[in-house]
Amino acid sequence: MSLTVDETDQILGDLKVESVRGNLNLTRTNRRILVKGNIQTTVEAECVRCLTPFQLMLNIPLEEMFAFSASVDPIYFVNDDGWLNLKGPLREQIVLAMPLQVLCRPDCKGLCIQCGQNLNAGLCGCANTEVDPRLATLKTLLQ
Ligand SMILES: [Zn+2]
Ligand SMILES: [Zn+2]
Repeated sequence: MSLTVDETDQILGDLKVESVRGNLNLTRTNRRILVKGNIQTTVEAECVRCLTPFQLMLNIPLEEMFAFSASVDPIYFVNDDGWLNLKGPLREQIVLAMPLQVLCRPDCKGLCIQCGQNLNAGLCGCANTEVDPRLATLKTLLQ
């Protein structure tokens, strides 16, 4: 049995997910259901360098056994009414897939340590006053 997931604006605990899309294959075994597939999702994240919130795209491979009762497995389980509860599992997999250092883009320039300006938006005045330590000595000698 296969299942298509296509959801938007989901709250998974402390995570805000803009979209969840993918296809899952469900195989019933004796005591559990094997859920296998891929989920593409966009999570709200904050860049560690420039602190700008942005949408992080993640591709999440899912291959998990789901129990038939929450008492057997409190996260990976199928509800009594037959619904595969994906919120807990997705949150768990997203947390695992999230890089420790989330960057809005690989070459993010970050914030100016002096004035806090987002350097992706352009240079601030501070950059010019930065003096090489060797040149600083030179400057003193010249004065
Ligand atoms: Zn950034
Ligand atoms: Zn600055």
